[in-house]
Amino acid sequence: MAEQKATNITWHEGSVSRQERQKLMNQKGVTVWMTGLSASGKSTIACILEQMLLNRKKQAYRLDGDNIRHGLNKNLGFSAEDRAENIRRIGEVAKLFADAGVIAITSFISPYLKDRDAVRASAGTGEFIEVYVKVSLEAAEQRDPKGLYKKARAGQIKGFTGIDDPYEAPTKAEIVIDTETTKPDAAAKQILDYLERGGYLAA
Ligand code: ADP
Repeated sequence: MAEQKATNITWHEGSVSRQERQKLMNQKGVTVWMTGLSASGKSTIACILEQMLLNRKKQAYRLDGDNIRHGLNKNLGFSAEDRAENIRRIGEVAKLFADAGVIAITSFISPYLKDRDAVRASAGTGEFIEVYVKVSLEAAEQRDPKGLYKKARAGQIKGFTGIDDPYEAPTKAEIVIDTETTKPDAAAKQILDYLERGGYLAA
């Protein structure tokens, strides 16, 4: 993936450990990685989850597809190469948040298995929770909250995931949510319960 360009750089250890930060915040930093088709419900569920965590006095921060493409990743498009770099950067940013003790919730289509697995591999054990936000293409097209599927079908958007670009479903997601049978609140609660059971909401 991304080549190491700079040389003569060394990692500088600080004196405050991750454990100490976690203790201070009474929670464990982790990346909650939501993946799924456009309109599957990633952003909707991420927002509810963030609010639920805040209500529990837990610090969470959402990294959301379109928002990140306005700033950090504004120089990236939707080619396979750019999508890979997009996901790599998000993964690195989420990792920093998690290291700071925050629960980082990412909502990106992230269609390629290889790109998601690279983020997983770069995270520490138990620090990457993949959430497959599942929906059929038919249902996603019916929702179409931003009218994107309509545009893609009309040929106005090229390389749209699910239409003329692939979506590779997770094979080992920690959590699978079928949004055709699970309401947004229940979906967010399912993730919250996973975090609770996994001991992430305490230090
Ligand atoms: P994504 O971030 O995956 O592109 P969004 O959350 O932006 O998806 O949009 C999903 C749309 O589907 C919203 O309009 C939401 O209200 C609707 N929706 C219907 N049922 C569900 C569900 N069970 N879970 C999440 N979203 C749902």
